[in-house]
Amino acid sequence: MSFSSTLISWYEANKRDLPFRGTRDPYLIWISEVILQQTRMEQGLGYYRRFVQRFPDIHSLASGTEEEVLKLWEGLGYYSRARNLHTSAREIMERMDGVFPQTYEEIRKLKGVGEYTAASVASLAFDESRAAVDGNVYRFLARYYGFREPSGSASGKKLARMKAEELIDNSQPGTFNQAMIEFGALVCTPVNPSCNGCLFNTSCYAFIHRVIREIPVKPRPDQIRKRFFHYLVITWESPDGARILLNKRTGNDIWKNLYDFPQIETPRIVSLTRLMKSQEWRNLFGDLHPVVSAVSTQFIHILSHQVILAKFYRILLEGPIECPGTIVSLEELASLPVPRLISRYLQKCFS
Ligand code: SF4
Repeated sequence: MSFSSTLISWYEANKRDLPFRGTRDPYLIWISEVILQQTRMEQGLGYYRRFVQRFPDIHSLASGTEEEVLKLWEGLGYYSRARNLHTSAREIMERMDGVFPQTYEEIRKLKGVGEYTAASVASLAFDESRAAVDGNVYRFLARYYGFREPSGSASGKKLARMKAEELIDNSQPGTFNQAMIEFGALVCTPVNPSCNGCLFNTSCYAFIHRVIREIPVKPRPDQIRKRFFHYLVITWESPDGARILLNKRTGNDIWKNLYDFPQIETPRIVSLTRLMKSQEWRNLFGDLHPVVSAVSTQFIHILSHQVILAKFYRILLEGPIECPGTIVSLEELASLPVPRLISRYLQKCFS
């Protein structure tokens, strides 16, 4: 049996039962691929189900607000993926009469769609013979052929794609791609792959040469940036109940279009006394001398290339202050999209 026939037979017998398996709907495939990128399957499935329940097709996604899309995405991270899905759905409605593009090249033009996602959708929905290489496939191929290019490198990706395109079954490219991903996820796993029972162990370079732990070669770690955030949780009582001041993040930084609190960022840890003397504090409060009623412990929030060290300062005022921001009630706050760091603080310390 050829490589692809062996693989596909294994897949048919061992594949997991996932809600998007078997669909030919390019919209559902697209959503599942975007949600599951850089996300554990167990975590991603809940998000997928909730997302397609609220937005079952392109039309409903395009008609929703970005805020609603971000709210459903809350906690998943990489929020640009959610914004891009929404932008692309609107583009499909406005420029393509609501018809999902049907070729790899056209799908690739959608905002935020990379080679992997375009190949997955084109092969699964439209039988286009394009190899989809994600981290699972890369690991499997790198070990099988003995590549030493670091995973994530442009040369490594190109090599893996070329090899996958040599192996692909042109009569069922979507099934082949799913089988490759599933094999990487279930058998050729990052740690302790099941080599002894593996169908490919007699021809696998890494198994034969006993270099499984060395392949795939890890990329050099990027410089991790440490950032120090001081969040000012400003509240006051109004005739209609408690109000809180929020900041909508509009700049070109993390968490664009999500809500957090007015924030002062410092290059290192500083004391509250020093913070209160900063220009940012004076800009916010002018001549007022607000009392800080509680200071949280430090929250550590890890992102792919940054570590955020955050503290939250509770400030109860007698009324609103003159400054840019969004004033909401606590009920309204619960319906707005916020970064996971903020929801962790709200759950732990805010009542
Ligand atoms: S023998 Fe081991 S390393 Fe090689 S493909 Fe199979 S599971 Fe992966």
